[in-house]
Formats: sequence, structure tokens, C-alpha cells
Amino acid sequence: MFGRRGGGAGEDRVAAAEKAFERGHQEFAAGRYAAAAVVFREVVALAPESPNSQFLLGASLFNSGDSRDAVDPLRACLAMRPDHAAAHLALGMALGRLDQFDDAAEHVAKAASLGDPQALDMLPKIGADYCRTCDRAVHISQVRNPDADIIVGAVRMGWTCADCHTVVCSTCVSGGRAGPFVRACPDCGGRLRVLTK
Ligand SMILES: [Zn+2]
Ligand SMILES: [Zn+2]
Repeated sequence: MFGRRGGGAGEDRVAAAEKAFERGHQEFAAGRYAAAAVVFREVVALAPESPNSQFLLGASLFNSGDSRDAVDPLRACLAMRPDHAAAHLALGMALGRLDQFDDAAEHVAKAASLGDPQALDMLPKIGADYCRTCDRAVHISQVRNPDADIIVGAVRMGWTCADCHTVVCSTCVSGGRAGPFVRACPDCGGRLRVLTK
């Protein structure tokens, strides 16, 4: 999984990384997250180009209570594998613990859009959903009349179609223009209502 380029010292490095990865995986599976983090630091130093090693380093740090240090390896994983659902979820949870709620919601939303069951379960609990067009997070609003004609909403407001029930963000509905926009479903042309519980 770490690739085998060149020979000699390169191959030794790859073999050492693979061996350490196995060890780290065992520590992680046994729930010894602090020990796993130490081993995955070694793996990442030997083979920084492995997305799964970066993910497991981040997950080990997060699970051992170190949300702050978990962020960088999880971002490194996602830079290489933007569709790594588990890394998006872990990063979302780490950012949530660091009180960076908007950024956290984006990553949980992305994990949900990729079908991660834990993320799909978590989104409504943090008052969010994801845009079916662009995968970004949208807020579930508390407005009393979601059908009102004039609505003053946040940029990250969510909309749902009365006909096909899709969920879209304001940007995808308005094409990014400020001010009033026609509230028509981009999929079926149906009427959009504010996304509420
Ligand atoms: Zn959108
Ligand atoms: Zn529709």
C-alpha cells in the first residue's frame, strides 16, 4: 500500500512503514489509541504519502482526546483523498470539539453526502443537513412559516422541495446572486420551502 519505488534504502523504508502500519493497526483495533498514535507518527514520517496512515494517525489522536493535533493529519489525508468519508467525519468531530462549528458541520455534511451512516445520523442532531447539489452543509431553520414569501435568512440556509423533497443550499438555488431569487427546485422546478425540522 505504500508503493515500491526504486530499490535499496527506499525499499527498506517501505518495509519499515508496512511493518509499523501493522503494529499501529493492532494497537488501534485493541483500543490503545495513544500507543497507536505513537506508531502512526512513525509510519507517517516514513511514508507521508499514505492517506490511510494519515487518517489513522488523526483518528488515534482524536480517540485519545487530542483533537487539536488530530486536525493536521486528517487534513493531509483529505488533501490526497477528498472522498475519504471517515476522515471527513473524524475531522468534523475534532473541529466540533475545538468549537469550530461551521467548519465542523461542513465535514460532517461531506461525510453524509458520501453515505457515511454515522454522519447521516449525526447531521440532524447538530441542526444541519447537506445540499444534494454541492454537498455543503445547510442549517435546519427554526422559522414558523417555511412557506412565507419573504424570508430573511442566513447564507447557509437550507431549502427543501415540496414536490421531490430534495435539499439544496441558498447558493445552489440563487446561482450565488445576492438579494431575492426565484425559489424553484433546480431538479424539478417545484416550490421550495425553508428547511425546518
Ligand atoms: Zn448547494
Ligand atoms: Zn424538486
